[in-house]
Amino acid sequence: MSEQDLGRGRIDTTKPHSARMYDYYLNGKDHYEADAEAAAKVLAVHPTVKLNARVNRGFIHRATRWLAGEAGIRQFLDIGTGIPTAPNLHQVAQSVAPDARVVYTDNDPIVLVYAQALLNGTPEGRTAYVEADVREPQKIITAPELLETLDLDKPVAMSVNALFHFIPEEAKPYEIVRELVDALPSGSYLMMSHSTHDFSADTWRKVIEVYKESGIPFITRSKTEVARFFEGMELVDPGVSEPHFWKPEAGDRPEDIRSADISMWAGVARKP
Ligand code: SAH
Repeated sequence: MSEQDLGRGRIDTTKPHSARMYDYYLNGKDHYEADAEAAAKVLAVHPTVKLNARVNRGFIHRATRWLAGEAGIRQFLDIGTGIPTAPNLHQVAQSVAPDARVVYTDNDPIVLVYAQALLNGTPEGRTAYVEADVREPQKIITAPELLETLDLDKPVAMSVNALFHFIPEEAKPYEIVRELVDALPSGSYLMMSHSTHDFSADTWRKVIEVYKESGIPFITRSKTEVARFFEGMELVDPGVSEPHFWKPEAGDRPEDIRSADISMWAGVARKP
């Protein structure tokens, strides 16, 4: 059985999934009716959710270019990758550094179905896919596909974007991040974006309710709570910020974007 068939057999199309709802926000085609229904309910209470997802992608692209460029990083570990969307992280990293190696991880079997699109990198670089749950960090850092692709004695940029708002306190999110960062050498980086209620508590109470009704735990965090994920690390300028204000590039107009429309905190930090 091919990997694709393996993935297909395990996909429950009757229940909404976070990866497929996110695909809907990005105007992708890889979601089912249950996902579209739940995502439309989110859209009804948070009408800028599509802009929110695009601004998050914009942060990921700029941060990845910065890591591959200014920071000279050649190895990337992207956890909670999502359904492929152009450009994927390896395409951004390899556009700066063609020899960049990227390992993708997600726990939704649908991502595996489309993983082929995540694996078509440059001939000089390498990409791999690990199906794993971030709540079991040891499984990720000891996965043979990861160890064949990344040299854990050299710096790695680990990204967990729009992921930890699916990890409630009882799953020990801070310990998970600590365990992952501990597995990486000095000079490695952590990139994170995370939804927040700081700008519009009422909207996010409703968003959380929609996810909860769909069987998906969702938790927003304050700026202080998001900053805690970076404890012990050196935050890269401008620190924990709204994603559109993280190193905007020429032509970007972050000041035109309303904070509540995005409702995210984002940051990049270096492991000393
Ligand atoms: N990182 C991408 C996609 C975010 S959507 C971006 O920011 O653009 C969130 C992704 O996290 C989905 O693909 C979902 O399947 C994945 N995810 C949710 N819970 C997870 C878990 N416990 N372990 C691994 N991945 C998870």
